[in-house]
Amino acid sequence: MVGFDMMSEQESGALAARYHEVRERIELAARKAGRQPGSVSLVAVSKTHPAESVEVVAGEGQVVFGESYVQEALSKQECLSHLGLEWHFIGHLQSKKARDVVGRFALIHGVDNIKLAQNLQNRMAMLPVTSTGGDLSVQDILIQVNIGREPQKSGVAIEDLFSFAEDVIKLPQLRLRGLMCMPPFHCIGELASPYFAHLRELKEQVERHLGMALPHLSMGMSQDFEQAIAEGATLVRVGTDIFGERPA
Ligand SMILES: *Cc1c(COP(=O)(O)O)cnc(C)c1O
Repeated sequence: MVGFDMMSEQESGALAARYHEVRERIELAARKAGRQPGSVSLVAVSKTHPAESVEVVAGEGQVVFGESYVQEALSKQECLSHLGLEWHFIGHLQSKKARDVVGRFALIHGVDNIKLAQNLQNRMAMLPVTSTGGDLSVQDILIQVNIGREPQKSGVAIEDLFSFAEDVIKLPQLRLRGLMCMPPFHCIGELASPYFAHLRELKEQVERHLGMALPHLSMGMSQDFEQAIAEGATLVRVGTDIFGERPA
């Protein structure tokens, strides 16, 4: 398939079928875990895939899409603005990019350092009050936790989580909604389960520590979202199983 060619009817049909298959797997995993299927939301991760593919999946009823690269995400938002989609930023975010994302993403999944959190707050304070669109007075965020204690990985260290969460909730226009993690790269399927269970425990501990409810656990990707749902995920971030392999 040539990148910029129009998608054939066959290709868009296959994409739609893969999307519905993922939805069914989510529903099944939720039921197996004794959970309401509605308690798990799918974030369709469209990074590196063309806006045309997003349009096909949106046409099948998907509203929430996840992107990892700021410029790519903003460009897709621009050309798909007529669809009324909800965008989540799921990638690593440099603190200097804070101004490009505030108010443009319903949820930022990967907040993991105070400089980024402070920049997000500062940029929120600068947004015009009467912008069009949704509620621009608060930016919903998740704290990313380095659940595998990997030296190179994004995410706050587990031992710093409480104090970081305390700092974040002091920022008036950031609203902490939960935790997010990515288990070590090679720990997929069943091997990811202990990491997911640990993130759930950490969320419960942070809730007690802060005295506030955190509705979201963002965990699980194509290779392990069923296990994540079994451990309590409320947001699963699925790319490959919907859109196909990404270019290397
Ligand atoms: C790319 C990405 C995903 C999607 O991964 P797949 O394996 O393609 O489902 C999920 N979460 C994050 C943070 C990502 O960067």
